[in-house]
Amino acid sequence: GEVLLEVDGLGKHFPVTAGVLRRQVAAVKAVDGVSFTVRKGETLGLVGESGCGKTTTGRMIMRLLDPSFGRIVFEGRDITKLSQKRMRPLRRDLQMIFQDPYSSLNPRQTVGAIVGAAFRLQKIQTEQGVKKAVQELLELVGLNPEHYNRYPHEFSGGQRQRIGIARTLALRPKLIVADEPVSALDVSVQAQVVNLLEDLQDELDLTYVVIAHDLSVVRHIADRVAVMYLGKIVEIADRDDLYERPMHPYTNALLSAVPVPDPSRREGRDRIRLQGDVPSPLDPPPACRFHTRCWKAQDICKQVEPPLVELSPGHQAACHFPENTTVSATDLVAAQS
Ligand code: SF4
Repeated sequence: GEVLLEVDGLGKHFPVTAGVLRRQVAAVKAVDGVSFTVRKGETLGLVGESGCGKTTTGRMIMRLLDPSFGRIVFEGRDITKLSQKRMRPLRRDLQMIFQDPYSSLNPRQTVGAIVGAAFRLQKIQTEQGVKKAVQELLELVGLNPEHYNRYPHEFSGGQRQRIGIARTLALRPKLIVADEPVSALDVSVQAQVVNLLEDLQDELDLTYVVIAHDLSVVRHIADRVAVMYLGKIVEIADRDDLYERPMHPYTNALLSAVPVPDPSRREGRDRIRLQGDVPSPLDPPPACRFHTRCWKAQDICKQVEPPLVELSPGHQAACHFPENTTVSATDLVAAQS
């Protein structure tokens, strides 16, 4: 399909200031040059531990946060520097779903008012029309149309997420960035909400970027997966390719932590325990940022940054000693010079 979103060398450095003059003394390199494309109708999973920059990336795409550098192109149009005023018509096209919808649902408003506000905003509906449209949406997200007059606190976590999704859909977005959409929910409810997102995607021709902290949630919904570590993408590939033939050691470590439904399958790999915590993005390790925690690290990993290169069709990884590939480390080093 055609490219809907293109992110090119995108970065966000938060300045750290000190003293009365607020001089900048350092920068938190939250996102440090990420590039990817999302085609119309597809789902990209954006995965990594907290602090890897995935949420900051999502917020920049939404233009809730101004990038420090790089470009965001939506429907062929560079929106990186559009003023908030000129972004306004695009606001409906780009929507975000949050981990905890409850905090963004006004407790004093009924579901009808919350979801209906989006329709009223468009000034295209009469009172009766709004009610009908909201009830249709409630059905679409698996809620009872009779819930129209109820308040958010009367619903379970999963139902509240459905209300949040209904409100988002009322705007008829083209791209939805879902930031940990199910991680606050009971495991038993997570699959239902993921299935709902998938059904809605087919029905409404939606494109998703789904942000998650582990690889289990996006496994079912993502067409492609990008793995982030300390502000950079370390691997990006088609879903099955990534889960079956991970090339970056960090991806391997994340995958080894995912519970396996059928342990007889090859992916039932030994648990890899990463040493230490994620280093601070204030002072990320030089060259390969993963070297302080990587069991395969050699001297070159501390001296030369491995570029993110395509090692098999559609499969990119940034590592001097990738796994599941015949491309040698020597080739890689040669490729970057
Ligand atoms: Fe590990 Fe070296 Fe690959 Fe970095 S480049 S992930 S340190 S093997």
